[in-house]
Amino acid sequence: MADNNLFTGVNSIKFSRRFRDDEDCLIYLSDIKWANGYNCKRCGNNKFSKGKKPQNKRCTKCNYDESPTVGTLFEKLKFPVLTAFHIVFKIATKKKGMSSLELSREFELRQKTCWAFKLKIQRAMASSLKYPLNGTVHVDEFTVGGPEAGKGGRSKGDKKLIVLAVEILEDGVGRAYAEIIEHASAKELGAFLRKYISRDAMVVTDEWRGYLPLKKEFINLKQVPSKGGKNFNDLHIHIMNIKGWLRGIHHHCSKKRMQNYLDEYHFRHNRRSNMGTIFNLLLKRMVNYKKNTSFTVET
Ligand SMILES: [Zn+2]
Repeated sequence: MADNNLFTGVNSIKFSRRFRDDEDCLIYLSDIKWANGYNCKRCGNNKFSKGKKPQNKRCTKCNYDESPTVGTLFEKLKFPVLTAFHIVFKIATKKKGMSSLELSREFELRQKTCWAFKLKIQRAMASSLKYPLNGTVHVDEFTVGGPEAGKGGRSKGDKKLIVLAVEILEDGVGRAYAEIIEHASAKELGAFLRKYISRDAMVVTDEWRGYLPLKKEFINLKQVPSKGGKNFNDLHIHIMNIKGWLRGIHHHCSKKRMQNYLDEYHFRHNRRSNMGTIFNLLLKRMVNYKKNTSFTVET
């Protein structure tokens, strides 16, 4: 896509002017989908003629008429693609995103429909794992949820254990990632660290023994006393922010779905100083989405 066609910024008036109908959106999607040229999905041929609709491409060899949405997360939408663009724009650019209930009210869609589309958006928000955390990185675990009211003291409810890593900069937190885990074991903590943190980062954890064996791989890993969280102040503020967000707009969240919310939260958090391109990036992720996520998601 030529750079001057790219939509940037977070201004909803400009957004509404740029995308007036489904065709505007489909043209935008086709520019993203075929940005590196055309290859027929069926036979691999690279020559096309006009398809049934102006945004489609028809293979000159096998005649397959391909729409810009097929094979992307915009395939088989239950509502106009213009509405889908508005939803993606809101979720990308609003500080706290929007719950499926809020989406359902604003766009006059069934909540279940919004819930399902939001799940697709969240999948595209998972880390690309291309840019591991670097510099000083604090790591700790925390829980959300807990005993459910009315079920008695012995019910564990659906307490969820989460491990979080945040870059500590001179003026606060940098990028961060979190993942839901079953146990704070060396095995699970190690898998998390390997996935999201550079091997030469200055990793700091509390004195939990689960981190001890990881010093072999993370040579700069240092364990310090937590002192009731005082040694991990910025990290604990980040935890409070995540918890507040989850409480504020999501009434209940299953264990399986929790990872999607953690991915959504950190997708925005990690780009909070690059808001200009966040919508376009999310669209690109949704168009080029491949089912290779490392965790399972509820459908
Ligand atoms: Zn073909």
